[in-house]
Amino acid sequence: MINLTNGSDMVSHQDPVRDTRGRALHDLRISVTDRCNFRCTYCMPASIFGKDYEYLARDQLLSFEEITRVARAFVGLGVSKIRLTGGEPLLRKGIEDLIGMLAEIPGVDDLTVTTNASLLSRRAERLSAAGLDRVTVSLDSLDDEVFRRMNDVDFPVVDVLEGIEAAESVGLTPIKINCVVIRGVNDHTVVPMAEHFRESGHIVRFIEYMDVGTTNGWRLDDVVPAREIVSLIDTVHPVEPIEPNYVGEVANRYRYADGSGEFGVIASVTQPFCDNCSRVRLSAEGSIYTCLFASQGTDLRQDIRDGSSDAELTELVRGVWSGRTDAYSEHRSNVTFKKRKVEMSYIGG
Ligand code: SAM
Ligand code: SF4
Ligand code: SF4
Repeated sequence: MINLTNGSDMVSHQDPVRDTRGRALHDLRISVTDRCNFRCTYCMPASIFGKDYEYLARDQLLSFEEITRVARAFVGLGVSKIRLTGGEPLLRKGIEDLIGMLAEIPGVDDLTVTTNASLLSRRAERLSAAGLDRVTVSLDSLDDEVFRRMNDVDFPVVDVLEGIEAAESVGLTPIKINCVVIRGVNDHTVVPMAEHFRESGHIVRFIEYMDVGTTNGWRLDDVVPAREIVSLIDTVHPVEPIEPNYVGEVANRYRYADGSGEFGVIASVTQPFCDNCSRVRLSAEGSIYTCLFASQGTDLRQDIRDGSSDAELTELVRGVWSGRTDAYSEHRSNVTFKKRKVEMSYIGG
């Protein structure tokens, strides 16, 4: 039974909606902006996202009220985890207000933000006070020169580390650190990264470089397979695999044999996990995408602005998820990676 009322607290769960492969819906990623102050070479290469690039206009973005309404519909269909992302989510003005609104939805038990941490040290306290549970911070290398080259705006490592400290001090923990590994770019800094965080209680997740979007010039040869990443670390600090925290966890977990912590690898290229994929993505302009590698989404904004009721919105979303057949990573090839796909900075990973 669902009871969704615009603006009220009356949301109750029913069994999660399932797609054509029986995959349940659990996670909602909300992109709150397509803008970013970094130009990570693998995500928003400066050559494409230059001065003339046309970002979404203010009125194209869903308002906080509209986002909250969509989130309520998803929670009624089984979502319990919500992650705010982007672009850089902390660039969206008043994001703390949105966090407060989402935190009040009954049934949301994990509310997180993925951020490049450039603004985290001065915002952590407000984010936590607004009701945020945790943060994931992206940091691709502790080598300052390598990191500046990867973010391509000359942003220093030390400021990201300050952001992580600030988040820790206000209890936005456990913190996950996302590190995209690219061959010949930062693979030589994997071991120092693992070492730096291994006794910190924060969990580094090394991510295989993915062929998201069409602008990053991805080549299979640039991917460092998760197996190789684990082996690099294991050679210096022996590790052993551990069980996932829950069904559908995307990271394969490893712990150091000496008990000094754990890390994860996200092997979306070499070991696809489409079988357990439970994520839906809402773009900043209100389209939903059921796969990171989709070329097209389903627009909800028009329906919202045309006055659709909560029940109609819920049925629309239910229909999209239940008809879902996505399994891009199971079929990745030299042909598929060239197909037109939505940009990562648009749907947020
Ligand atoms: N700007 C925020 C940040 O970087 O944390 C949030 C948005 S960003 C698109 C979300 C995550 O996607 C980041 O951790 C980033 O490293 C990852 N990402 C972006 N492009 C990627 C790619 N081509 N392959 C793998 N991960 C990627
Ligand atoms: Fe910005 Fe995040 Fe993409 Fe880097 S990965 S360009 S920080 S959106
Ligand atoms: Fe999910 Fe698509 Fe990634 Fe497969 S390729 S795990 S369906 S997002």
